[in-house]
Amino acid sequence: MSAGTVYLICFKEKLHHAKHYIGFCEEGNLEARIERHRAGNGSKLMAAVTQAGIAWEVARVWEDVDRNFERQLKNSKNGPRLCPFCNDKLKKKGGE
Ligand SMILES: [Zn+2]
Repeated sequence: MSAGTVYLICFKEKLHHAKHYIGFCEEGNLEARIERHRAGNGSKLMAAVTQAGIAWEVARVWEDVDRNFERQLKNSKNGPRLCPFCNDKLKKKGGE
């Protein structure tokens, strides 16, 4: 299993019921992937968010993880809890 990067994107406004997007990319490709999302590419949800004119930011990044980790995060549906913008406890600690 190749190592990569999992990232959490936080939308400034909800799109339908979504406020977060969790994605995976190969190690070292995060910046290019984020650029693609900014242009409205790379994922249906991110394309919809960008088209709706909703601002968003990369809230958190996990380095050296694999797709299983991404799946675990997605299945746990804990976006708001994992997000330092939405979770005051994380904010106070200043990261991990
Ligand atoms: Zn958030």
